[in-house]
Amino acid sequence: MAQKLFKCDKCFKLTPLIQKTENLSKGIQRNFFECKNCKAKTTVYFSDKRLRRMIKKQQTLNVQERKAVLQSEIEQRMNELKTIYETSPIL
Ligand SMILES: [Zn+2]
Repeated sequence: MAQKLFKCDKCFKLTPLIQKTENLSKGIQRNFFECKNCKAKTTVYFSDKRLRRMIKKQQTLNVQERKAVLQSEIEQRMNELKTIYETSPIL
């Protein structure tokens, strides 16, 4: 199986796409890729309890229409969290 690669923002080298999760404060988690070359972390998204619950729920939904609605709610929440935590000193 071919390994997925992504280009690192910091060193511009290709690195295997391995998603990791780390716990920040107050139940916030960060999903990120870690560059194999320079160890830089590229944030995929931040999640809180509410968002993780939404994602879980979406994975179990069979109704395509509701899935789409939930998807847009998830994206909205991801954007909110990103705005809050990307600039936060807790990182
Ligand atoms: Zn790198």
